[in-house]
Amino acid sequence: MSDHSITGLHHVTAISGPPQANVDFFTKVMDQRLVKKTVNFDDPGTYHLYYGNRTAEPGTILTFFPFAHAAPGRPGSGEASAYGYSIGDRVADDWLREVAARGAEVSDPVERFGQPVFTVADPDGKRVELVTEPGDHDPAAGGFHGVTLWLDDLGPTRDLLVDRMGYAEAGHEAADGAERLRLIAPGEARGRVVDLFRQDGAPRARPGAGSIHHVAFRAKDDAEQLAWRDRMLTAGMQVTPVIDRQYFNAIYFREPGGVLFEIATDPPGFTADESLDHLGEALKLPAQHEPLRDRIEAVLPEIRT
Ligand code: ZN
Repeated sequence: MSDHSITGLHHVTAISGPPQANVDFFTKVMDQRLVKKTVNFDDPGTYHLYYGNRTAEPGTILTFFPFAHAAPGRPGSGEASAYGYSIGDRVADDWLREVAARGAEVSDPVERFGQPVFTVADPDGKRVELVTEPGDHDPAAGGFHGVTLWLDDLGPTRDLLVDRMGYAEAGHEAADGAERLRLIAPGEARGRVVDLFRQDGAPRARPGAGSIHHVAFRAKDDAEQLAWRDRMLTAGMQVTPVIDRQYFNAIYFREPGGVLFEIATDPPGFTADESLDHLGEALKLPAQHEPLRDRIEAVLPEIRT
């Protein structure tokens, strides 16, 4: 048992192919809002696109580094293998019918811990999961249900999440040489589920288009983030210093199974540099890259929204 607990996911960051297809899929098919159009702060010749709900709340934010020529990633252990949105059971059938009508490939549901889970293929062939829960919310309003971490050994990651980060075991399923351990954070926030998945003989993941780069958990403010930093250092993690990501402060560490974790602050949020009504419209650059705006705009492909 841990005295402190993560409340849920802040965002999930993935790698995609060309940006236009990514924007079209997540805004037009998945009905997410493009809430920020900026660059990878560590590689400003590449976009960093953020999607979320209408008010860009933590727990709804999915972000992409789109690379026009990214080779496909290879799924396997050592990375987050899936993220799932929550969809209300009263609207799921209608919503999925509409998504299929927009040209997306929708799978038949599989049952997981008693919940039907559908998937929709994104332009890179990555399966976006939709986890059915009681209610009438669409995936934009519902935000994340959770993430799946694909691991060689569930134990060390389970211990970190349960003993240090406040998660509790909530179920275990095993079949055909694979197992899934469900962990849930306490409270009511979005994105409280972390599933740990293992499969006999799995290859190691190789990152590329369709891969999840990291998963970010929430801290309510800078003080809570610093407390998490101390706790993770005490737990033996190699944690970065606090890094200013303009819309949140971030710390990063690799959990024992190899998945990159981030803890991100809720403030200042996505209205830090543009108003709620105009989120995602203009290319936003952090102050350190603003002097290079002309050159950055010249190398970034145009995106129609
Ligand atoms: Zn991040």
